[in-house]
Amino acid sequence: MRKPIIVGNWKMNKTMAETEEFFKAVDDYAVSENATYGIGAPFTDLKVAVDNAKNLVVAAENCHFEDTGAFTGEVSVPMLQEIGVTHCIVGHSERRTYYAETDETVNKKIKRLLDADITPIVCIGETEAQFDAGETTEVLKKQLHGGLEGLCEKCVSKLVIAYEPIWAIGTGKSANKEIAENCCKTIREEIRAMLGDFAADSVRIQYGGSVKPENIAEYMACEDIDGALIGGASLKVDSFKAIIDATK
Ligand code: 13P
Repeated sequence: MRKPIIVGNWKMNKTMAETEEFFKAVDDYAVSENATYGIGAPFTDLKVAVDNAKNLVVAAENCHFEDTGAFTGEVSVPMLQEIGVTHCIVGHSERRTYYAETDETVNKKIKRLLDADITPIVCIGETEAQFDAGETTEVLKKQLHGGLEGLCEKCVSKLVIAYEPIWAIGTGKSANKEIAENCCKTIREEIRAMLGDFAADSVRIQYGGSVKPENIAEYMACEDIDGALIGGASLKVDSFKAIIDATK
């Protein structure tokens, strides 16, 4: 059985003091047999987050695939490991759009993270133009083949994949549950075709894009949706607690 995982992605929000305040208010609440809850936070907040987390899992929002070197402004996997983060978002559409993330760099990051026993949360998804042109399946397959190139069945079984249609991110225009389920199923079946049943049946697939307390339960009821990656609605204590309430 796949245990669902619901993760907030704070993006470039919150200071260390705000992080401490949030974790003190939410961590004790984030306990359930039915789901794992977590927060993806900016690098500067990660130590405070880990120090205040007994129940929430803590994710970085990016990493570099090299361990050390002349990469100004970057943070490596051993640095994240030392802090104690257990998860790391890779390939978010904002990083693909603004910071030249590609399927190839996503692939290198996934491999380095798995070596360090940190769970990658791998984001894929189509633009609005691609959706309108009926290219969603093709785009998802391309991102999967590029991002997961050379990974074994066991490696892929450990991943979390986040299906985030770019047109639904921060727009309030969430994908309806049929679209979300359909795309998550497409992802699972492509993994089955690439690597077999074990990887396909173990990999957890999240939906992300304007998820909020009012709509999370309908996504979670879908067979192939094993959680959510949540931007805006993860920033406020009350709305993140409401999301926990709706999924406990
Ligand atoms: P919103 O929930 O704000 O639409 O953001 C989704 C997202 O990008 C999570 O990674």
